[in-house]
Amino acid sequence: MGKITFTMAKRILKNLVGGPATLRYPFEPAKRYDASRGHIEINIDDCIFCGLCSKNCPADAIEVSKPDRTWEIDRFRCIICNSCVEACPKDCLSTSNVYKEPVLSGPVKDKVIGPEVEAEKEAPAGAE
Ligand code: SF4
Ligand code: SF4
Repeated sequence: MGKITFTMAKRILKNLVGGPATLRYPFEPAKRYDASRGHIEINIDDCIFCGLCSKNCPADAIEVSKPDRTWEIDRFRCIICNSCVEACPKDCLSTSNVYKEPVLSGPVKDKVIGPEVEAEKEAPAGAE
């Protein structure tokens, strides 16, 4: 009993004189490590809009449109499981260890538009 009381007293004293055990995020920057899962990034130039990332996403967070050449992610749905990164045949997805800015309400969707295809760029004016 005496030993438990001593241990508790030591812990209380340590908590009183030591700083808080948690960060005041977002007022202080979040700690991050090489392997931290911050958010998913895309190199849209390499994307072929196959939709495999979307099909393999357990959180239904990605929408891909081949006709519009768009790739969109809902940051509130994404659980950063890495499944899309592993499924992408073009290796154009990656997990950044930088966290996105906190927000108070959602949805938070990031839409990325792919570059025009060469045929469209070179098409003469007025051509369909
Ligand atoms: S799996 Fe890769 S190439 Fe296919 S749509 Fe997703 S990001 Fe683009
Ligand atoms: S990391 Fe996981 S949850 Fe987030 S978009 Fe990719 S597959 Fe979906």
